[in-house]
Amino acid sequence: MSVKQSLQAAALRESLRYVRRNPEENFARLLGLIRPFARLPWHREIIRQAGEMWADPQNNWRRLTERALRQLAPKVSEKIVMNFFLNAALIGVPIARAVEEEHGCNVPWAILMDPTSNCNLRCEGCWAGEYAKGAHLSLEELDGIIQQGKELGVYFYLYSGGEPLLRAADIIQLAEKHNDAVFCSFTNATLVTPELAAQLAEVGNVALAISVEGFAEANDFRRGIGVYEKTARAMDLLREVGAPFGFSTCYHAGNTEEVASEEFVDAMIEKGCLFGWYFTYMPIGQHARPELLVTPEQRQLMYERVHEFRATKDIFLIDFWNDGEYCNGCIAGGRHYLHINANGDVEPCAFIHYADTNIREATLLEALKAPLFMQYRERQPFNANPLRPCPLLDNPDELVEMVNRAQAYSTQRRDNEPVEVVADKCREAAARWAPVADSIWQQKTAQQVKEAI
Ligand code: SF4
Repeated sequence: MSVKQSLQAAALRESLRYVRRNPEENFARLLGLIRPFARLPWHREIIRQAGEMWADPQNNWRRLTERALRQLAPKVSEKIVMNFFLNAALIGVPIARAVEEEHGCNVPWAILMDPTSNCNLRCEGCWAGEYAKGAHLSLEELDGIIQQGKELGVYFYLYSGGEPLLRAADIIQLAEKHNDAVFCSFTNATLVTPELAAQLAEVGNVALAISVEGFAEANDFRRGIGVYEKTARAMDLLREVGAPFGFSTCYHAGNTEEVASEEFVDAMIEKGCLFGWYFTYMPIGQHARPELLVTPEQRQLMYERVHEFRATKDIFLIDFWNDGEYCNGCIAGGRHYLHINANGDVEPCAFIHYADTNIREATLLEALKAPLFMQYRERQPFNANPLRPCPLLDNPDELVEMVNRAQAYSTQRRDNEPVEVVADKCREAAARWAPVADSIWQQKTAQQVKEAI
């Protein structure tokens, strides 16, 4: 950051105190202070849209902003603005684009890492269930990845697992050390205590994405009896101290209607969730249950509901598979994100268990330039229709070819699932979704053309 930028950042930090006291009067001023940091046209466009959003008191994004300002501890709101919007987006992205150009490889916006493969639950069909237990990334290894990432412009780090909060002390320590970055941990939340909630509010830059798969019965069907109760209690603890959190939901053939319902989303808002991530069930590993894959009708329902809620509810929702239209398809392979598992294997995505590089033997930049990630870079997007983004779930031949060309190995050390086997499990779902997705996309683009005329 230049001296001028440091002064602008200090002014921005100071202005946050006024925004918290009187958002009505000071939010527009905050946007004015953020604007000089926006170097990319689409960043300037987002700031313009944020101004429009704020001008309408009924706008659901404004209501979300107001709710967040009321609910979150002061340090947390500061970290969201300074670390997430400023460092991870406005400052980090242009740095990453420059590195990308210099090295001719993808550079991600976010890095997902597994501190441990161990978990205190046994959820049926867990996507991480076939990783061998007992693997860990040490504190030094996690720290090293973050240090390397920041040099490439990456300021957003996510944790998955295993259960990341088995390593809560390390997560807090890393957040304190890298207090210019922002962190989000996927978690079953059963290990959240009042002490940990208070630490999260105090450190300010770690959010929790809490796994919930519906109301108690649907949730506990895969996650275990009594788990819903514990996650609800964790949300209460976090809300009470102003720590940031949202929900993370795997939708499958048995719960889609429930988690796509207004009642469910309203209940999550009521509990204090500020965001929600939807993931669809993937049949990974020898114990997978392909019958849990969603039907095309369920995937369409989720697409429509998320769009509806996004325009009306005061919560930020993401659908990991159906939001390809906002980022031109698949974001994996370092295009916007990558995954490093607890053995150090650098995978294109949390759901793609193949790698040709291990972070214990290579730098992050070397992993990005290795054959598997370069295959991703050359082939993305994998489909002209962004509603069919995935090289596994929607275009299984793509993954088979990339893995074989890169001579990548299976990272599931327990079953070493060949890529042809996992691809075969997705073929029928891909073929059934294709005509539905194409029809939705044709209608949408026709509508957009009509509106533009
Ligand atoms: S590989 Fe599939 S699941 Fe992973 S980011 Fe790409 S589209 Fe999404």
